[in-house]
Amino acid sequence: MVIGAGVGGLTAAALLARDGFQVTVLEAHVYPGGCAGTFYHKGYRFDAGATVAGGFQPGGPHDIVGRLLGIDWPIQRADPAWIVHLPDRTITRWGDAARWRDERDRALPALRRFWDVQERAADAVWDVAGRVPEWPPASPGDLFRVLGKVHPAMIPLAPLALTSVGRWLDALGVRDRTARTFIDAQLLISAQTTAAHANALYGAVAIDLPRVGAYHVRGGIGMLARALADALVAHGGAVQYRQTATRIDVQPDGTFRLRTDKGAVHDADMVLGNLTPWALNGLLGDHAPAHLRRETAQRAATWGAFTLYVGAPASALPADGDHFQIVQHDDRPLGEGNSVFVSVSDADDPARAPHGHRAITLSTHTRIGPWWALRESDPPAYQARIAEYRDRLLDGAERAIPGLRQSATLILPGTPAAFQRFTRRPGGMVGGFAQTSLLAARGPHTGIPNLWLVGDSVFPGQSTAGVTAGALRVAAEVRRAAAVRRVVINGWRSSEAG
Ligand SMILES: Cc1cc2nc3c(=O)[nH]c(=O)nc-3n(C[C@H](O)[C@H](O)[C@H](O)COP(=O)(O)OP(=O)(O)OC[C@H]3O[C@@H](n4cnc5c(N)ncnc54)[C@H](O)[C@@H]3O)c2cc1C
Repeated sequence: MVIGAGVGGLTAAALLARDGFQVTVLEAHVYPGGCAGTFYHKGYRFDAGATVAGGFQPGGPHDIVGRLLGIDWPIQRADPAWIVHLPDRTITRWGDAARWRDERDRALPALRRFWDVQERAADAVWDVAGRVPEWPPASPGDLFRVLGKVHPAMIPLAPLALTSVGRWLDALGVRDRTARTFIDAQLLISAQTTAAHANALYGAVAIDLPRVGAYHVRGGIGMLARALADALVAHGGAVQYRQTATRIDVQPDGTFRLRTDKGAVHDADMVLGNLTPWALNGLLGDHAPAHLRRETAQRAATWGAFTLYVGAPASALPADGDHFQIVQHDDRPLGEGNSVFVSVSDADDPARAPHGHRAITLSTHTRIGPWWALRESDPPAYQARIAEYRDRLLDGAERAIPGLRQSATLILPGTPAAFQRFTRRPGGMVGGFAQTSLLAARGPHTGIPNLWLVGDSVFPGQSTAGVTAGALRVAAEVRRAAAVRRVVINGWRSSEAG
């Protein structure tokens, strides 16, 4: 059984169905995709969270999965990937190598030495990423597999594995504030933290997406999950929508009994939770192992998101790009409306908006605590906060799309409470854990045999590509666990027969 039809859950489910496992996915919502879903509202198809996808380059996670499952992804390359508006300059993140070199040398000369190492590090990691999904290693077997495949080009990069991007920039003498704000903004959307905390090797890869290829998905990003759900069914599996798993009981023989809000009961040998650790802990209740209870009590909450879904006439939108990242002030922390990511649906994708219009998703990172505190204690102040964040996001978006406020025909806000409701992620915590240390990365293990986490709480974390890489690892673990189980059961049978 798989709980959750996010990209991570569906990828693992479809891979296992292809291998002959009997797989059923329980999904609370009426369509798949979770944070990478696309919802319908007043003629628009809005991307709920994720808008730009990577990992389709040869050997990238979506490419590997697409080939294994026979999926022809409905994608088209976005170049430029996005345009970054900083307070004093604009930087276009071209995918084309020559244009990007010219652009970064023009706009960010202080980072020249940084890019050389960043690209070498990213190339080396991309080369092994698809083949070495066993990070963090959970057993001597995992470690052996990782070491056996390490690329010689990675050895000189080893120091990056143990430091932060911030210290790396310090060592290169990069003090230019704009350059550092640029790197912080790139890392916040790809590593869930800024340079001071982001692991340097992870960061080198995380900010590489435009170079290896950023893509739009025709029909909206939710079409990735739909393609995966179709592949799952084609390989003999099933997705049951409107089924919220409400409880997982671990049976005395180590198997599982799952209950849903519709009163359904499912027995399973193995369970994958496309869930955060907090959600899994809640479903297990008394069955939660001590270390999962400790983890969920001790870990700080991850980021939430505040979003705006905006419909606007195509004639009012810029022609120079579809994705924009805006930082309004470089002397204030990012997130909370000071950094905004804006994505406009493809001009030639009629499925996304009424004729002559386009669907726009705006998002910013936000701390979830204040939202929930106000929602419960002071509803008028909560509404005022929504209005304030709406204005902050529109102010930011106006840098890239002048006149957006006036031209918008529809503006719909999304709070952490909305994310909790529509993705069932406790508190509306999204994006997984900040990737601060490779040695402290969270793997898929739960402390209960044959029960794994999959999704962006698991290394390598957030993004459709990240959760796909994690799902490849989890599917491999399930296969190995099933093989061991078969040997044990066959052993019992033959000893009973004997
Ligand atoms: C605002 C925002 C912008 C983002 N931008 C990008 C981007 O541009 N590019 C990118 O690649 N990534 C982006 N991301 C990150 C990306 O969307 C996520 O990392 C990824 O989609 C998470 O996938 P997941 O497999 O963890 O599943 P989730 O998306 O968390 O989905 C889990 C699914 O499980 C279901 N579920 C949960 N609990 C239960 C239950 N008890 N019973 C049944 N079903 C349940 C939910 O309904 C949901 O469908 C963004 C995220 C956000 C929030």
